[in-house]
Amino acid sequence: MKVTFYGTRGSIPTPGETTVKYGGNTACVLIEANNQKLIFDAGTGIKKLGEELASSNEPVTIILSHNHWDHIQGFPFFIPAYQNNRQINIYSAPTHPIEHNAILEQMDMSTFPVPSKDLTANINVIPLMNEFENMMINGLCVSSIKINHPNGGLAYKVSHQSKVIAYVTDNEIHSKDNLNTDFDSWVAFLTGVDFLIHDAQYTDLEMPLKLGWGHSSIDQAIELAKAAKIKILILYSHAPERTDKELDKYINDMQLEDLQIIASQEGKTHEV
Ligand SMILES: [Zn+2]
Repeated sequence: MKVTFYGTRGSIPTPGETTVKYGGNTACVLIEANNQKLIFDAGTGIKKLGEELASSNEPVTIILSHNHWDHIQGFPFFIPAYQNNRQINIYSAPTHPIEHNAILEQMDMSTFPVPSKDLTANINVIPLMNEFENMMINGLCVSSIKINHPNGGLAYKVSHQSKVIAYVTDNEIHSKDNLNTDFDSWVAFLTGVDFLIHDAQYTDLEMPLKLGWGHSSIDQAIELAKAAKIKILILYSHAPERTDKELDKYINDMQLEDLQIIASQEGKTHEV
């Protein structure tokens, strides 16, 4: 399997000299296996991926964790949506309020000049009503579990042959206000995962000011990865303020004997 990061940043795009290395675009990850592609989230990182996909006519599959801006805002700039009859399937996570068409409704003329009804691709929004186990999407086995995040949403794991990749973003592991999945349930869901992409937006120092915001600290992501006996943890959804220098320092200081810790980096591909 192959994982490529097109957007690694949480909350808001953050271009600038302090984010050149790890990237400034918001959430978008491509997982490839068995000649199939699954795109997780449609933050601003999906624009570049759309440029790459424009030269083929294969169907596109996007799986959304939830509808917050940093997970859908790149879609109006996604070239395949403007290609005649291009098939685009969008799996939309259950949120509250339920807004399965939010990714299209953001194109409403007052906020974007092209209304979604003018998109010439064949766009099919598939509402996911709950967490699920072992759903086949493009021949890949996908399971999901509810994230601890304001307005809800889903985390996913994708397995192919003997490898498993998990995409867990916008998740406050020890949430009090939005607890849908407790620590033990996370451990159960993630045990056996080879490559864990997990929200690590804050530091432990910042965390007390961010309780209830629906994100975890770097140390909390590590705590969960250790409990689930993960071998490779990818820190994801970097805070907009987090500089390349800070991330480099965390990564250097934190390596553990049996857990490899990597900061997600825009443009980087990992073989799993
Ligand atoms: Zn969110």
